[in-house]
Amino acid sequence: MLDATLAPVTAPTPALAARAAQTAGSPVREILALTARPEVISFAGGLPAAELFDAPGIAAAYQHVLTADPRRSLQYSPTEGDPALRAAVAARVSARGLVTGPDDLLVTTGSQQALSLLATALLEPGDVVLVEDPCYLAALQIFSFAGARVVPVPTDGAGLLPDALDEIVARERPKLLYLVPTFQNPTGRTLPADRRAEVARVAARRGLWIVEDDPYGELRFAGETVPWVATYPGAEDRTVLLGSFSKIMAPGMRLGWLRAPAALRRACVIAKQAADLHTSTVDQAAAARYLEVADLEAHLNLVRGAYRERRDALVDGLAATLPEGSRWNRPDGGMFVWAALPPGYDAAALLPEAVRHDVAYVPGAPFFIGPADRGALRLSFVTHAPAEIAEGLRRLGGALQAG
Ligand code: PMP
Repeated sequence: MLDATLAPVTAPTPALAARAAQTAGSPVREILALTARPEVISFAGGLPAAELFDAPGIAAAYQHVLTADPRRSLQYSPTEGDPALRAAVAARVSARGLVTGPDDLLVTTGSQQALSLLATALLEPGDVVLVEDPCYLAALQIFSFAGARVVPVPTDGAGLLPDALDEIVARERPKLLYLVPTFQNPTGRTLPADRRAEVARVAARRGLWIVEDDPYGELRFAGETVPWVATYPGAEDRTVLLGSFSKIMAPGMRLGWLRAPAALRRACVIAKQAADLHTSTVDQAAAARYLEVADLEAHLNLVRGAYRERRDALVDGLAATLPEGSRWNRPDGGMFVWAALPPGYDAAALLPEAVRHDVAYVPGAPFFIGPADRGALRLSFVTHAPAEIAEGLRRLGGALQAG
């Protein structure tokens, strides 16, 4: 029998793991929650234009797989992914300059999962991961969960600086370099070809993995395509390329893929078995069906055209919106413009005033690992049509004057 004197006393539950306690929630997702009111014109979220989703085409694909072969599309399926989807992705990747077979690929639950699988497969606590500064936030969360030490590599307006990379690699002995070389999140920057070649050379000479995360490359609406880092001499056997259907089909389907050398891919397959057995069978089957019967290129051309108009509406309106002395870029694709208010301005401190004016953006500071530019902000140009963008800029101008 329990001792009655002990009965009312309850012992505290054990503490959270250090990695959970030390990893913060994403400020971007918190801002998204704040700005969910329908009256807010948001430049904050990286939300693809929902009215441009090919909803009828996607619905027809689901309808087909659920009626033609429900016993397969509703069943458990292999961890590596749907064979038809892997074949279709392999053909698309090969057509873009990187010879790829279905067996080189692992289908993932969004490219976000590919990042976690890689962290599980590659990182010991204390390992060094190099990232561009500033860097995609949810990748930083994953590296933090893995207990990695994240070291920033300096950048300029064209992205990562290869000479700085070489020095830092020599000093820090990192396991991997994580980069988003095309239309980066948050900066919209694209790393030029000569720097890609140099990154590949550094990785080969010094021995490290390159994780090339490319969810935005197919959203190019101006300028020349720059080949994947994975295609440059030295990078072939040490680059993991990540792709996603989120920006070209629909993010809610949660479909991505990873292309990696065999031994690392096998380790990722095992990590995925432990994480979720496999990505949703029905979603993969619907995507494969969609790629078989729909004209994704025609759809993408429509999306690219709309995004170009939206970029122009945003960028052309910034001069009249942001204070004198502000700077910003004009990306040839993707979803984001990176702006910097003049010295003395703090984009995070100004956000509540912007939200009071029913407009939102993401302050740039949380994306930095090194010293932050407090005036920086990320503006997504894709979520709203040009007329709403113009109205959003009017509100933002008002907020900046009031703030
Ligand atoms: N990588 C980068 C650079 C991103 O911006 C995003 C989405 N915001 C992801 C990965 C994750 O994309 P998903 O999981 O939807 O494929």
